[in-house]
Amino acid sequence: MNEYNGQGVRNIMEDIVFEKMESIVDSLGCCTCDKCKADIAAYVLNHVTPRYVASEKGELFSKVQELNQNSNTDVLRKIVSASEIIKEKPRHEQ
Ligand SMILES: [Zn+2]
Repeated sequence: MNEYNGQGVRNIMEDIVFEKMESIVDSLGCCTCDKCKADIAAYVLNHVTPRYVASEKGELFSKVQELNQNSNTDVLRKIVSASEIIKEKPRHEQ
């Protein structure tokens, strides 16, 4: 038997955060380089409740996404706050 290494378990909030961020990042007025996008995503993921699933099925992912309208709104709000912080203090020269 192999030791279980956590394979097949993922935090679907990562998908949700990255997807939402990509869809609104252009309208946020902050830098959209990979570094800043990584900072925004990390900030948001540290401030939302993770949702782990033991499956990679897209089916399940979209279901969860639909079911949680409130957490979607919450994620959007946190992306906006994160972008404001990043705008003030990007980790590189403006
Ligand atoms: Zn940047």
